[in-house]
Amino acid sequence: MAHKTPITVAYGDGIGPEIMEAVLRILDAAEAPIEKEIIEIGEKVYLSGTSSGIGPEAWDSLRRTRVFLKAPITTPQGGGYKSLNVTTRKALGLYANVRPVRTLEPYVATKVHMDLVIVRENEEDLYAGIEHQQTADVVQCLKLISRPGCEKIVRYAFEYAKAYGRKKVSCFSKDNIMKLTDGLFHKVFNEIGEEYPEIEKDHRIIDIGSALLAEQPEKFDVIVTENLYGDIISDIAAQVAGSVGLCGSANIGEQCAMFEAIHGSAPDIAGKGIANPSGLLNGAIMMLVHINAPEVASKIHNAWLRTLEDGIHTADIYKEGSEHSVRKVSTQAFADAVIERLGQLPEKMATVTYNSNREATFRSVPLSTYNPVKTLMGVDVFIDYKGRDANKLGAELSKLNGDGLVLTMISNRGVKVWPEGLPETFMTNHFRLRYKSEIHPGEDPIRPEYIIRLLQRIMDAGFDFIKIENLYMFDGVKGYTAGQGE
Ligand code: NAD
Repeated sequence: MAHKTPITVAYGDGIGPEIMEAVLRILDAAEAPIEKEIIEIGEKVYLSGTSSGIGPEAWDSLRRTRVFLKAPITTPQGGGYKSLNVTTRKALGLYANVRPVRTLEPYVATKVHMDLVIVRENEEDLYAGIEHQQTADVVQCLKLISRPGCEKIVRYAFEYAKAYGRKKVSCFSKDNIMKLTDGLFHKVFNEIGEEYPEIEKDHRIIDIGSALLAEQPEKFDVIVTENLYGDIISDIAAQVAGSVGLCGSANIGEQCAMFEAIHGSAPDIAGKGIANPSGLLNGAIMMLVHINAPEVASKIHNAWLRTLEDGIHTADIYKEGSEHSVRKVSTQAFADAVIERLGQLPEKMATVTYNSNREATFRSVPLSTYNPVKTLMGVDVFIDYKGRDANKLGAELSKLNGDGLVLTMISNRGVKVWPEGLPETFMTNHFRLRYKSEIHPGEDPIRPEYIIRLLQRIMDAGFDFIKIENLYMFDGVKGYTAGQGE
């Protein structure tokens, strides 16, 4: 008997169990060389008292098999446990989220032609989930972007393009506004892109990039972007291509990989037996390529295309009166139709032939060494202040200058309100005081204890400081941005 690869399977929440059953039936019928370990994660585990929503046995299984086929999981909005999807991706180091989107016109109705792959950074950005309430009115989410994180995902995108014969890689960011975080992502894209002269490159600001993606997707081939943008644009792309229910995704790390649908647990249709299992099936097909079963992956993909071509459609893609939608079917009837067609090829759409896993060779890549000289230049002190008179605040806080640290600006939600603020500017109770060094070259630099002494003076003067951010130069380049209007 052929070698079977152990994989971990989670049925998930909402429509998860229905679509997972359909997909596993197809995998079994196609004789996929897998051995399943079923784990329970998500809502039920949380409700039974494990606050993270995932227990130790589940982690054991994942660390043993290193391959995870996962149905969608409900994430409570606002409160409750953190997103298990995000936790799993980060805990297992699954840094690359690969989401191919292909239109299936005319069999699945769409207004555009699309054949692209979104490579989304999977571990950082606002999805680090580091959030704090700092005043009665103001909450904060920290956007963390790291050089190694950017290098890993950008290189992955270029290597993926090379391995799969893609011609162009586009970077989406918002570096006109977020000059340091998105600026770093774009900069690393330019640096690493130089190593791939044979691949065409471009950069789009995320807003117009998303608009073009929806309207002229033929402009794009591989798109590499940050976590939040990637999450949003892959739903847009999938929906424009026909339905969010169609697309699968691979979450790739150096040691583990997780495969899933891009959509969520769809509580609005859960239990009705009408969900499209195609997204999870496409995730499972990517898994089969990953575990080096490309023939089975091709067999299932071609049977799936044939099913769609034959007009057998779940409710999300069924179009009443269309010659291409022949029969509206349930989740399980769709799976039966795919199973009946195993071994058949599509007659009109192009046949798919997978080769063995081409990603394995480039998942572990060396990172650049960057070791700049870091110089402390000052500090931004944030205070919770209920007054609204920025000039009075500026006058009082300037009295606290000392040790070469001088108050140069006060801002509120990023906008300068002192000196010379505008009376029209709306202010909350969250103020930033920028104290910069007046120390000149050749003199002793600012020392951390000067900042501690400044905080003591601020506190003694009766102000409520809530956090600080140090201002540094790296190799003589400012590691902080100006206030708006500064
Ligand atoms: P969703 O993707 O679950 O649903 C959006 C819309 O698309 C709904 O109208 C739904 O009925 C439809 N839809 C989704 N999948 C479908 C399918 N296979 N067939 C037919 N129609 C389908 O998004 P949501 O409603 O915003 O999120 C629901 C829950 O899923 C939330 O708790 C969210 O946090 C979670 N979620 C999980 C994942 C994941 O597990 N990877 C991803 C996204 C959202």
